[in-house]
Amino acid sequence: MTEPMKKAASLPITIQGLTKRYGGSFALDHVDLNVCSGEFLTLLGPSGSGKTTLLMAIAGFTRPDSGSLRFGDTETIRTPPHKRDLGMVFQSYALFPHMTVAANVAFSLKLRKIPQNEIRQRVENALETVQLGGYGERGITQLSGGQRQRVALARAIVFEPRILLMDEPLSALDKKLREHMQIELRRLHEKLGITTVYVTHDQREALTMSDRIAVINKGRVMQIDGPREIYERPANKFVADFIGDSTFLPVTISGGDALYGQTVLKLEAGPRNARNNLLMLRPERLQIVAGQACDDLNIFTGTVKGVIYQGDSYLLHVALAGGVEVCVRGANQRDAMVVIPQSGMAISLGLHREDTVLICDE
Ligand code: ADP
Ligand code: MG
Repeated sequence: MTEPMKKAASLPITIQGLTKRYGGSFALDHVDLNVCSGEFLTLLGPSGSGKTTLLMAIAGFTRPDSGSLRFGDTETIRTPPHKRDLGMVFQSYALFPHMTVAANVAFSLKLRKIPQNEIRQRVENALETVQLGGYGERGITQLSGGQRQRVALARAIVFEPRILLMDEPLSALDKKLREHMQIELRRLHEKLGITTVYVTHDQREALTMSDRIAVINKGRVMQIDGPREIYERPANKFVADFIGDSTFLPVTISGGDALYGQTVLKLEAGPRNARNNLLMLRPERLQIVAGQACDDLNIFTGTVKGVIYQGDSYLLHVALAGGVEVCVRGANQRDAMVVIPQSGMAISLGLHREDTVLICDE
């Protein structure tokens, strides 16, 4: 009889001023970051931004030059990796190909000198938890990529770690399987409640899975927030650019108003900073306006430069009167775009007051 694994006592992580240099450049530049107990936090950033370095510093495989790392109340910066009580999953499964599934999962328990019958029980439970019950005696080479990654996951959770670290664990899988595993990993996290730090460079994966996302660039945390805030209220141009597609319209701030050309924009209420002189335009938030526009819409006129059919949606390229080219996405629903615009057509685009976001050009 096996019973699925239960919620573990998880730990918060507190990182302060964590710094790591390679030669003259910062891989981590004074990183401050809190991961709450039981939280699923994703480190998202381009290649070379420092995600792996940060994860390896949490794991203890990379020794930072300075800074503090606490698990719960305990300073951990000098604790060797094997005493940190955490599970890890990498992009490459790092499984032993000549051993069975069960032997792979049991490996860390054997190192910990746990009695044989308890090992068997725990391995079965862990395999059950990742939906590989009954696969224990198979060889690794008999498994698909998704199944191998689940074995790696079972191996990481089998000793009930209080922290789980994952570095691009799904990036070797094809798109369909990757999306399936995202949902599965998220469900598993909800069941086990282990504090999880997850690394990806895939923004959609981050938005799908995370409680919060820390966007990293050049070894620095650019913003840490929930997926919705990150996407809809990016703190700076880097975040706005990296997550989703956007175009930026230069605006002039004058006496609390923002002007695009001569037109005063209708904006969300709130203080206006003269440095926030770019209006962010997301393709799906621009609407094609035909006839009477409502009071809350900012209207931009332009000319259609191209129409791209993308199956579930259309993407229009529109050159605005001011010269900036923007993208507009329309859903391919029966009545979403009654008339699909054609290249060369004059067009009016509306941006609702509530969808206006001004950000800093830096
Ligand atoms: P990411 O995982 O976000 O792609 P990394 O953390 O691997 O980024 O790397 C961050 C930066 O640190 C990069 O510029 C990388 O070249 C550098 N770096 C990482 N590890 C080493 C190392 N062992 N020696 C020298 N430079 C390194
Ligand atoms: Mg990496």
